[in-house]
Amino acid sequence: MSEILIKGGILITLDKERRIIKNGAVAIKENKIVSVGKTDELLKNFSKADEVIDAKGKIIMPGLIDTHIHHIQMLARGIADDVDLVTWIHDRILPYEAALDNEATYLSAMLAILEMIKTGTTTAIDPGGYKMENVARALKDSGMRGLIAWASMDTFTEDRPIPKEIYTTTEEAIKANEKLIKEFHRTANDRIRVRAAIRIETNASNRLIKEINQLANEYNTGVEMHAAVSKEQVEFIKQKTGLPVVKWLDSLNVLGPHWLLIHMGWIDDEEVEIIVKRDVRIAHVPGVSMKGAYGSGRFGKFPELLIKGVIVGLGCDSSAANNSLDMFRAMWQAACLHKEVRYNPTLISPEEALEMATINAGKSVQWDDQIGSIEVGKKADLIIVDFNRSNWIPMHNFSLVPNIVYSGDGHDVETVIIDGKIVMKDRKLLTIDENEILNKAQKAAERVLEKAGLKDKLKSKWPLF
Ligand SMILES: [Zn+2]
Repeated sequence: MSEILIKGGILITLDKERRIIKNGAVAIKENKIVSVGKTDELLKNFSKADEVIDAKGKIIMPGLIDTHIHHIQMLARGIADDVDLVTWIHDRILPYEAALDNEATYLSAMLAILEMIKTGTTTAIDPGGYKMENVARALKDSGMRGLIAWASMDTFTEDRPIPKEIYTTTEEAIKANEKLIKEFHRTANDRIRVRAAIRIETNASNRLIKEINQLANEYNTGVEMHAAVSKEQVEFIKQKTGLPVVKWLDSLNVLGPHWLLIHMGWIDDEEVEIIVKRDVRIAHVPGVSMKGAYGSGRFGKFPELLIKGVIVGLGCDSSAANNSLDMFRAMWQAACLHKEVRYNPTLISPEEALEMATINAGKSVQWDDQIGSIEVGKKADLIIVDFNRSNWIPMHNFSLVPNIVYSGDGHDVETVIIDGKIVMKDRKLLTIDENEILNKAQKAAERVLEKAGLKDKLKSKWPLF
């Protein structure tokens, strides 16, 4: 049985008491955490571990959980900057997704995983895409932990077309979801999970929503859906159903803790109460809202949701939207955005931002019994962060967590362990050939853009020589 001992670091546990242990240590057996405490204590039993990692001058913390990341959109970085949401979806991203083949989908996922591991993310919660068996393969090959889905769309309007490669009838969408769940849910030693998914409320019928929820219940999994992303989309739903999105979903009797609603920047006070009552989980994605001008900082109710005890996880979204998968950056955004727009420096503390990226992200998809904190019995997903760097020093007892959120950078992450396996050591990836993926992903992106008819459409604003 393989054993790893990490010793001598500042251990941020995120356990129930939120203990921080100085000169702390963690022992791992196979894929589980078996001991947590002071280094002196753990050395008594684990000094002869197969691998002993000295974390002096470093932080040991739970691997970050990205509550919202699109594996298949990675090759779309840069193709949809600074456009409105409808253009982003219908003019750029859907044509791009329709042009993806199996190899490009796999490379996109590997590129996403590469960026995530290199910046300390150990679990990726994907809201769904297409050809997702390639994403499952990338998760399996890389050692990454992830939740995937198939993104159903069964309705559309003529002015907002959906490419034929992606559009399905309700029956076909349910079938595709069921196939993915049957094939991959709780596979790869339970590193891979699958949920049922509706892509976004504007492209879903009542029947699809009810049947996706039924399917999730049948397979004891959850539902993911983008919702209330922009004012314009909320108006669209109000016109169609007579209700704003949360009230509409509630009228269908589907909502519960197994629902993860993503973005949610445009909800009213009554909808906040429904979310509290139904214990619905939320993914907050501040970076994409700031870049895409979705308005979730200015109009969103995130501080209110947190005060009312709603489980809110934090996400980066896709590299075509944010355009970074660095969760340290996302924590900074979550902890700063609401302070600025509400003119209130006490909103969303660094401690809350770190919870949103770890234990509460785990809770957002009912995975917190296994991940999200460093506790005995949990899966060994953790990261070691080097703070002996100019952006961290000085470190005081009172500023350990604030420094992580306000000063940390994903590229300060030195070592990453997922499911008890070291996947990055001293910044070298051990399960992925980094150069090979970067080279192949560049070529695949060029090929896909050409096929999607986007290559000649996009030009540099500055002259290129
Ligand atoms: Zn998204």
